[in-house]
Amino acid sequence: MLTPFDVIDGASVPARPGLYVLGCYDSRITFYSQQIRALSLAYALFEQGHLPANARIAVVGAGAGGITLAAALAATGGFRIYLFERSDDLMPLQRGATRRRIDPHIYDWPKEDARHEYAELPLLDWRSGSATQVRDDVMREFAAVRAAVGARLEVLLRHDVRSVTPAGADYEIAFEREPNAAELAQGLDRGNGHMRVDIVIFAFGFGIEPPRPIPNTNTESYWSDAGVPGPEITGKARPRFFVSGNGDGGLIDLVAAASADFSHASTIQAIIGQPGIEELTERLRTIDAQAREADAAGAPFDFVAAYDAEIAADVARLGLVDEMVRRLRPGVQLTFQTRDPSLMSVKTATLNRLAVYLVIKACAQNGIAQFHHVVCGTVDSVEPPAGHGRPDYLLECAGNQIPADKVIVRRGPDRQSVRHPFTNVLDGFEAHHAAWLARLAAETLVPTLSDAARAHFQRLSTEHALPMPRYMEAEMAQHVPIRIQLQRNGAQVRWTGDVAPAAAATIWSTQAREAHIISLATPPELGALAHAIARLAIHADRALLVANVPAWRAFLIRLSIESNHAEDLRLPTLRALGADGAILNPVLMPVDAASTELNDAMDQWVLAAIDVHLQAYFATGADPGRKIQFRTEAALRASMRDIWAEWRASFNGAPALLARFLRLILCALDDDDSEDEARVLVGPLKLKGLIRATTVALAVASGWRAMTPHGTRPGNLSRAFADQIHTGHACAADMINGESMALSAAKFMWRTNFVVLPMVHKPTEFSALSDTSLAKIEDGIPRLTEVDDRLNVVLTVNDAFVGAVGAGADALTALLMQAQEFHFSRMNKAIERAVIA
Ligand SMILES: Cc1cc2nc3c(=O)[nH]c(=O)nc-3n(C[C@H](O)[C@H](O)[C@H](O)COP(=O)(O)OP(=O)(O)OC[C@H]3O[C@@H](n4cnc5c(N)ncnc54)[C@H](O)[C@@H]3O)c2cc1C
Repeated sequence: MLTPFDVIDGASVPARPGLYVLGCYDSRITFYSQQIRALSLAYALFEQGHLPANARIAVVGAGAGGITLAAALAATGGFRIYLFERSDDLMPLQRGATRRRIDPHIYDWPKEDARHEYAELPLLDWRSGSATQVRDDVMREFAAVRAAVGARLEVLLRHDVRSVTPAGADYEIAFEREPNAAELAQGLDRGNGHMRVDIVIFAFGFGIEPPRPIPNTNTESYWSDAGVPGPEITGKARPRFFVSGNGDGGLIDLVAAASADFSHASTIQAIIGQPGIEELTERLRTIDAQAREADAAGAPFDFVAAYDAEIAADVARLGLVDEMVRRLRPGVQLTFQTRDPSLMSVKTATLNRLAVYLVIKACAQNGIAQFHHVVCGTVDSVEPPAGHGRPDYLLECAGNQIPADKVIVRRGPDRQSVRHPFTNVLDGFEAHHAAWLARLAAETLVPTLSDAARAHFQRLSTEHALPMPRYMEAEMAQHVPIRIQLQRNGAQVRWTGDVAPAAAATIWSTQAREAHIISLATPPELGALAHAIARLAIHADRALLVANVPAWRAFLIRLSIESNHAEDLRLPTLRALGADGAILNPVLMPVDAASTELNDAMDQWVLAAIDVHLQAYFATGADPGRKIQFRTEAALRASMRDIWAEWRASFNGAPALLARFLRLILCALDDDDSEDEARVLVGPLKLKGLIRATTVALAVASGWRAMTPHGTRPGNLSRAFADQIHTGHACAADMINGESMALSAAKFMWRTNFVVLPMVHKPTEFSALSDTSLAKIEDGIPRLTEVDDRLNVVLTVNDAFVGAVGAGADALTALLMQAQEFHFSRMNKAIERAVIA
């Protein structure tokens, strides 16, 4: 790690005391590394006594480096800081880049911790995100520092520093000042000004990219969204890209050009998140070390040859090439032009190099996509020939003519233009700094913050009561419980807290924070709403019911652990009423309306959860958690998906239909008295039965064609059959009247024409049920009218069913028809027997 002395030595300009340069001549520059350099320099200057009391300090440039330096010096105190920025805002480069991602450590990959998303800086901290998000987070913290330090830090926007001239022991700063909007409106023009300071720190960065590095072509800035190759030429069967420059910007945009829908974050994730990738890291490190050695000796290094020799087989085996093939822009034709013969440089990040290598391999594997590397010092753009298939650009490189639809030039910013005004004082700095870089080598590439510097700024941050970074606030908020409070107010209920009834089911999500449901009323005072609250609390993984414990306990025990459907249910944690409360967002509503709204919202949550599982199942057969437990043939799954889309549409705007469908899946009883209690069952704890029953019902619907959810008694399904409507009941109840379903299904009197029992696996149920229904009739002799009412086709998930859905729609239809015919023949026999008797 660099010592404070090293840091100052690397930033000092020879023979110019009080003049420093912040990283502007370094390589492998990142947003994060510039902040580290800034904090290290501010601390080193303070610690080594280079900052006289009351010094006037000018910081030239308010990019990531300049504002971090200005904030660090101002927080340290005892001086006056002037932050000059020629643009009209801070960190102007990053302000419009929503499609570029900034990561603090990823450029160090495959080093350990490179995937860590938090910068964890003691000042102006942030976490990975789009450039605009990162900028916003840093701006917010910078604003807090400014508020804390007051006049000690002056930000001078639209101030272009034109020269710095030594004036005795001081420096004279001359600047041009652009008028702001109000001044422009008054007709004021730009003005000149000057200021005398004790210390100048150049944080002018690296300049901006020239707009037309190849004449007659146009390249948008790397930091603008338009600079990221988008889908704009997807209309072409063979979109042709010409990408120039093999720095990190060029490598990233080569990958972007190659990708159908480029997302920096997802590309990074696809590579470093690939299982087994760690097997490559040691070899990648070795290759980098060899490349650095070659570079130091002035010898070329062929990364592609090294990767081919060392990792080619493994990147293919691990699926990385296939993954890149999947991401390819269809038909893409890539030409990558570099000045040096080497396609890649050791100055770039390993991850970007690996991504480009994968693009090269993906193009080779794909066959239609093409990758070419061309080498030339200058590229000219000539007029493309007229006629059909005329490209937008025709580029000449070392005697070759290369057609292109899009030209992306990433040859780095124009460093000279930002340095130029200061050549008088920076004379000799470049050579001095180059020697310093060579001497300290790796430590300058990835600078780290010393413990002492970190502790210094952490202390200052506490002293100035600076807010914690936004990501930390968000994480802390995750630990604050969601609160919901209910109390009776006359005929109404007063609902207060973080979520309204219509959103309360969000506490069921696995990602949800802990929830405190505070009820100032007892169950009898809440009527039907008490059941809805019980449902909410019983199914919430992390909920606490804060209430009159004795009154609620008995009520909840009955609905959960002692319920007739107790399987999987649990008693929610109860806590006595105390200081906890929630007074925000009060809403007054009739008790029944609150109950309906809450129950409907919970039903919608369940529907969405079923849908998530089913969509994955329909698409790929995936069944995480083994909720469905049988395989369905692909075409049959597609047909079930279409029926499910219709069912979902019918549930939309028909909450009662959805409620009935779900409730009857979990409860065989269908009478007014059991309705409230049955509805309590419908939630995440019973999701398995709900998903399985819905899947089985959809398979049956697919075999029988016309079958839909049914909104009135009896049952929850209806089927158009032989000019009649037959009702059905898909029932995955675990118990009937407290007895296990497997035992009691045969005895239960179904009132529908057909019954789907997804939790019953025995084939014998089929006949047993038909007979039992008859036997149950009290006088023992069924009348014809009753026979129709009481005999049902019973479908269980037996071996025959599982075999049929695995085989496909035809097998399933055949099975269902067979079951139907078998049923009718038995029914006829039963009728004959009854008539004879
Ligand atoms: C093509 C490209 C791709 C990059 N990709 C990444 C990336 O993916 N991740 C990453 O972390 N970094 C990336 N960088 C590096 C990026 O430039 C830095 O992260 C960051 O902008 C450095 O901050 P800085 O403050 O040192 O310089 P800058 O952001 O350049 O800030 C310097 C500031 O000084 C101002 N200024 C200059 N001269 C004067 C003057 N005379 N008077 C007043 N003001 C002046 C400028 O207007 C500017 O606002 C990339 C750079 C380039 C060129």
